[in-house]
Amino acid sequence: MKPSPIVPTVDFDRNGIQHGYLRLPWSRDESAWGNLMIPITVVRNGGGPTALLTGANHGDEYEGPIALVDLASRLSPDRVNGRVIIVPFMNTPAFAAGRRLSPADHLNLNRTFPGRPDGTVTEKVADFFQRTLLPMADIVLDFHSGGRTLDFVPFAACHILADKDQEARCIDARNAFGAPYSMMMLEIDSVGMYDTAAESQGKVFVTTEIGGGGTATARTVAIAKRGVSNVLKHAGILDGPVEPSQPIELDMPSSEGFSFSQSEGLVEPTIDLGEHVRKGDLLARVYPVEGLGRAPAEYRARIDGILAARHFSGLIGMGDCIAVVAALV
Ligand code: ZN
Repeated sequence: MKPSPIVPTVDFDRNGIQHGYLRLPWSRDESAWGNLMIPITVVRNGGGPTALLTGANHGDEYEGPIALVDLASRLSPDRVNGRVIIVPFMNTPAFAAGRRLSPADHLNLNRTFPGRPDGTVTEKVADFFQRTLLPMADIVLDFHSGGRTLDFVPFAACHILADKDQEARCIDARNAFGAPYSMMMLEIDSVGMYDTAAESQGKVFVTTEIGGGGTATARTVAIAKRGVSNVLKHAGILDGPVEPSQPIELDMPSSEGFSFSQSEGLVEPTIDLGEHVRKGDLLARVYPVEGLGRAPAEYRARIDGILAARHFSGLIGMGDCIAVVAALV
């Protein structure tokens, strides 16, 4: 396969701290010989394990970028055993635009793996992670939140894996993160995900969904900052004990937990995030808005559990995810 066109301005093998860029030539209307500049920080001290930390895989999710920008500004090499690679704005064009997808090519980075070295901007970024950054890593933490159209109870998550040893290591790292909830996540659309790319290379992989709505709160930022510190301690890269926590364990046993709107209209939430539901309980109503006096569509829980995610913003479109119920373990 062709080499990646991305040129890092940092040396991944050098001890100390370097703030630089992944530079990708990007010729476009606004800049004939221009480049996409993806900020990256590398902190290295000796030959210990490597953590790869990413935010803004989707550009409208903010807890990860905030926690990682803060970490990049504070982390000193003498506290590190090994190497920390920090990319707070993985999908930099999407982050700059405040959008989920990249305005460069309208691709979803988290559906573009393994990418291509001779593809579009997002495909080239995916390929660089696939073939250059992921192979360097022992442990990978990829921050997500709900973005502009979803809101979540704050959780760290991992996936069911064929390799049960690897799965157990992912569960340990997820629990060390110490979010209020720990999820065994079911992906309903897993083709091309960074998660799968990392897991298929045998890495310890942890993802999150921390809040949403296209913004962050003091509470969710605190969860993200504590989580990344805990994961680095768990990996032995930072000294000190993991802060103890007792996450509530959640599972997505099947796609029955997901509800999708079958009409467009005005959403009336009938329960809030984190509340307990039983099978058959009402989750939300959707009122048609083309006229009055019409019955709303009703969406009901199909499994017992808690409301783990909900549609964000007051109006909903056809096929949008309206609610996700997760089972208590
Ligand atoms: Zn996301």
